Amino acid sequence: MESKSDYDCSICINTLVFPVKTSCGHLFCMKCMEKYLEQSPIQQCPMCRTKVKLEKLKVDKNVWKEVKDLFGDEIKERRKVVEEEIRKEKNIVKLKVRYGNKYELLKSFKTTKSGYENKHRWTVYVALGDKKVEAGSVIKSVEFKLDDSFGFTDIKKNFGPYEYACNGYGEFSIPIKITWQRWLKMEPATLDHPLKFEGKGSHKSFIVRVDKTLLEEKTGVKY
Ligand SMILES: [Zn+2]
Ligand SMILES: [Zn+2]
Repeated sequence: MESKSDYDCSICINTLVFPVKTSCGHLFCMKCMEKYLEQSPIQQCPMCRTKVKLEKLKVDKNVWKEVKDLFGDEIKERRKVVEEEIRKEKNIVKLKVRYGNKYELLKSFKTTKSGYENKHRWTVYVALGDKKVEAGSVIKSVEFKLDDSFGFTDIKKNFGPYEYACNGYGEFSIPIKITWQRWLKMEPATLDHPLKFEGKGSHKSFIVRVDKTLLEEKTGVKY
């Protein structure tokens, strides 16, 4: 690396602290990248949009050593803050929640009275990315709000699989409300999913932070 700015994180515009390098070669502070990916519906590099996986991010030891050698004093305070954050997170499990719609183009379908072809099979869903945990142990219910033209406005699922399938002719947006089990003491998550009728559909995810001890107690799963 050549200049000082090569050691800057493009998210916080500060010198890198605990740097992670993405597969596309971009560098970010570990915490900046974690927060970015947790909030972003799409898991991609903020610089070049290459797909990245939160779980795969590891501190780049070589770059971190270079940063410490060059800017040790300058980053002292921020480093302390991050180390404290890491210590606190030892008892946190980050559960990935996936949502979106699966999709299939039907070969045989019905045509509506007005001539629309109901050839799009879509399934809107909410699921956990982590197979270790049964979704029902953290999710109390999922509500899918459908367009008024469906005649019924809400589909409420109190048990998994948290999904709803239908054949249709046009894309529209589905508001989704996830209510968590009471022990999580979390506000419901409200999302909005625009259906996509192409390829394998459209899929997104976000992270919820759960107390590790409580999660293990409630699910019997060890982390
Ligand atoms: Zn940063
Ligand atoms: Zn990149």
